[in-house]
Amino acid sequence: METRFTEKDMETLFILRRVSSDAAIDALVNCPIIHLKRRQVLLRAGQSNQNLYLILSGKLAVFLEYPGSDPIAVLNQGETVGELSVIDDSPTTAYVVAVEGSRVLEVDETAFWRIISESHAFACNMLLLLSERMRSSDEALLKNIRLRKRFQRDAMVDSLTGMHNRRWLDMQLPRLINRHIRSERPFCVIMFDVDHFKEFNDQYGHDAGDDVLAQVARTILLSLRPTDLSARYGGEEFVIMLAGINIELAWIVAERLRKTIASERVVTGDGRELPPITISLGIAENRIGDTAESLLKRADLAMYKAKETGRNRSCKEV
Ligand code: GH3
Ligand code: MG
Ligand code: MG
Repeated sequence: METRFTEKDMETLFILRRVSSDAAIDALVNCPIIHLKRRQVLLRAGQSNQNLYLILSGKLAVFLEYPGSDPIAVLNQGETVGELSVIDDSPTTAYVVAVEGSRVLEVDETAFWRIISESHAFACNMLLLLSERMRSSDEALLKNIRLRKRFQRDAMVDSLTGMHNRRWLDMQLPRLINRHIRSERPFCVIMFDVDHFKEFNDQYGHDAGDDVLAQVARTILLSLRPTDLSARYGGEEFVIMLAGINIELAWIVAERLRKTIASERVVTGDGRELPPITISLGIAENRIGDTAESLLKRADLAMYKAKETGRNRSCKEV
C-alpha cells in the first residue's frame, strides 16, 4: 500500500493541471495519503476542517442532510473536496463519505496556502474549481425554485380541467372582495352545478363524465372575458367571478353560458356522442359587509333555488 504521492497521481488531479513549481510539488509530496474504507466518513457537516483532500483513487459521495440521504454529488478520482472550509476557515456544510475503498491526499492548510502562493497555475485551477462549485449550486437552487413553483401551481390547479381549484378560490376570493369593497364597483359570483350528473355517470360511465366536465371547463374559459375568473369548486360544481358588472348583467352572462353548455355535444375518445348536459346556476352580487363565505353562500342558495324550481335555469339571489 503506497504512502507517497507519485507523479502518476499528479497527472490525474485537475487541481494540479499545469502546476510546474518545484516548491509546490515538494509541499505536496510531503502530504500524507489517507486510505479510506467503504462507508468511512471523511468530513462531517458542522465540524471544522483544516484540510483539502485530493482524490487519488476511489469515489466519495457528498451528503447535505446525513450520510445515506440522497447524495448531492459523487466525486471521482482527480477531484477535490474540503477546499471551502480551508479557504474561509468555517465548518464544513456537508458529509463526505467513501463510496468504495479510496485514497486521498491530505493537504493541510499550511501546505495549501504555500502551494497557492508558489503556483499561479494551482491558484487558477482553484478559482476555476470554485466557480464550477458556485455554478452547480446556482443550478441546484434554480431547480429547487422551479420545483417549488410547480408544486405551488399544482396545488392550485385542478388536474382534470386545468382550472383553478377550490384552494385557489379560497385564497383569491377574499382578496377580490376586499379590492371591490374598496373600489365600490359591483362584483358578482355565479355558482353552478351539473344537473343529474350522478345519473349521467351511471348511464355513460365515469370517464364520459370526466370528458363532459373537461368540456364544461373549456366552454367557461371561452365564454368569459379575460378579466373574469373561474374555478372548479368541487366535483361538478364551478364558480365564476365577474368584476365590474351588476347582477342583471351577470344573469345575462349566466344564461348565455347555460344555453351554450346545453347545446354542446361531447364525443368520447372511443367515438360515442354523448347527450348534452344541463346546468343550474345561482348568482349573487357583492354587498357591503360581505365576506367570501357570505357571498358564496348566497350564490349557493340561489343555485339551490334553480335546482328546486326545475333545473336548467339561472336564479338570482333574493
Ligand atoms: P343534481 O341535479 O341535484 O345536482 O343531481 P346530481 O346527480 O348532479 O347531484 P349529486 O351531488 O347527487 O351528484 C353529483 C355527481 O357528480 C356524483 C359524482 O359521481 C359526480 N362527480 C363528481 N365529481 C366528478 C368527477 O370528477 N368526474 C365524474 N365523472 N363525475 C363526478
Ligand atoms: Mg353537486
Ligand atoms: Mg349535480
